[in-house]
Amino acid sequence: MDVDTRLAEDWVRAIAAAVEREHEHLTELDSAIGDGDHGSNLRRGFTAVLAVLAVLDGADSPSGPDAPAPDGGPGALLTRTGTTLISKVGGASGPLYGKAFRAIGAALPPPGQPPADAAGLGEALAAGLRAVQDLGRAVPGDKTLVDAWTPALDAYREAVAAGAGLPEAAAAAAGGAERGALDTVPLQARKGRASYLGPRSVGHQDPGARSTALLFRALAETTAARAAGK
Ligand code: ADP
Ligand code: MG
Repeated sequence: MDVDTRLAEDWVRAIAAAVEREHEHLTELDSAIGDGDHGSNLRRGFTAVLAVLAVLDGADSPSGPDAPAPDGGPGALLTRTGTTLISKVGGASGPLYGKAFRAIGAALPPPGQPPADAAGLGEALAAGLRAVQDLGRAVPGDKTLVDAWTPALDAYREAVAAGAGLPEAAAAAAGGAERGALDTVPLQARKGRASYLGPRSVGHQDPGARSTALLFRALAETTAARAAGK
């Protein structure tokens, strides 16, 4: 399975749908150990991303300055997603996810080159995690979205190394992210707002790790749907 523009767009739309479904839960988690805005932050960001996609798809403004851009490939679409998140989300998660999507986009081959396969997407997802860590300086165990992204990437790579295709690798990643998110419950936060609580951050799931689990679940669903011919 190739990582083409449609796959990238379907993935972003699936994340937006998951955020729409789960924003109250994300905000509830952030109310326990943060300032209660993680769900609304991501919702604002992905609503703006959907508006950008609508323009790119030509659903709005068929002519004029908002005319649909020519297909710039999956990399351009994901880079644009990241830029939109950075400009629309004020909280810590906006720049972190924004930089991650920009890095994923930049790591994918430009139009005219052979598209990324499962291994290529793994490289891009690794670039996304590096961008998160370059900006936020969090390491595994700090109780952040890094604690979901790291096991997701490990599981993805392990699956690819064992010969899995994209849908199986993405399903493995979703499982890794889910475990990683749940494993943040006993951790004490060492980065972000939750770290201000010290030991009182223990016993709660990190909201960003939960949203990262949604992101990898969305990738698994999108690639499974594509494999099923949808
Ligand atoms: P804010 O903390 O500014 O209110 P959000 O509520 O949208 O922003 O996002 C909070 C989430 O951001 C946390 O649950 C955590 O996963 C993530 N986060 C915060 N700081 C960092 C960091 N330095 N590195 C990685 N992730 C971080
Ligand atoms: Mg918050």
